[in-house]
Amino acid sequence: MNLISIIVPCYDEEQTIPIFYKTVSEIQPLLRGYQIEYIFVDDGSHDKTLAELQQLHEQDSENVHYISFSRNFGKEAALYAGLQHANGDLIAVMDADLQDPPEQLPEMLTSILNEGYDVVGTRRVNRKGEPFLRSFFSILFYKLMNKVSDAQMVQGVRDFRLMKRQVVDSILEMREYNRFSKGIFTWVGFKTKYLEYQNRDRVAGETSWSFWKLFRYSIEGLVNFSDVPLLIASFIGIFSFFVAILFMLFIIFRKLVYGGSVNGWASLVTIILGVGGLQLFCLGIVGKYIGNIYLETKKRPIYIVKEHK
Ligand code: UDP
Ligand code: MG
Repeated sequence: MNLISIIVPCYDEEQTIPIFYKTVSEIQPLLRGYQIEYIFVDDGSHDKTLAELQQLHEQDSENVHYISFSRNFGKEAALYAGLQHANGDLIAVMDADLQDPPEQLPEMLTSILNEGYDVVGTRRVNRKGEPFLRSFFSILFYKLMNKVSDAQMVQGVRDFRLMKRQVVDSILEMREYNRFSKGIFTWVGFKTKYLEYQNRDRVAGETSWSFWKLFRYSIEGLVNFSDVPLLIASFIGIFSFFVAILFMLFIIFRKLVYGGSVNGWASLVTIILGVGGLQLFCLGIVGKYIGNIYLETKKRPIYIVKEHK
């Protein structure tokens, strides 16, 4: 029997889970005889998500499985747990809110079975219904990321994708604690095709990503897949050193030509503040990397399971 595992991270998704299950089940006949194995990961939800999952499991215990975390570990941890527990020959990752259109699954399957791709990912071609500032920073992030990192990402790429077993095994080999899946997915390589689709709203519930959560997530992405910020810190240091030399030459020159004078307090204070600020900024960058090393060396588990069926 051919099996597709669908991994669904769920955080406070009590409203969307039943709709998700129903909608995806309707796609099943189009999957060329593939059976669907659902792996829901309850990421420490505070609502009745777990109860919904338990009920689905009662209803369809052969195909519906769930892993429930002891607390909220984040979507990245949920994805990792799901991938670890997947048994399928093909593995899909989907959000619970149906923003990832399940009707694309048959097309993804065709690309893998007939066109020789190892991975079929998806990207949104527009950001309709998204706050302007969020779109702006998000586009900026992709541009920056592709400049400074060896994990090349296409604009608007989603986590929604269908992968061969071999690809998932490679992803599981990456056991880092600070996980940035978008980067990990592209870092492992393999022949990838991207399907495009129009953005759509969630069917129910609300997004759990605030602007700041996304901002921190993108910093995480940068730090995990690039050491360019460290280079920037060094360049800033070198640059201000040269400016200091120029100033020194200027002062010596002025002393020789015009003689001594005690004005220039304002410029001095500005320079001290400016350079001090740059130093703190660079220290912050270095600190971020050291912080990540610290967390990595602790070798803490990526998630803790409370219940698993
Ligand atoms: N999610 C999760 N843990 C979290 C936050 C989100 O498992 O801490 C799940 C959430 O249930 C959903 C998916 O990740 O299935 C995407 O989240 P959301 O729809 O809130 O994000 P958006 O689509 O707005 O980027
Ligand atoms: Mg969503």
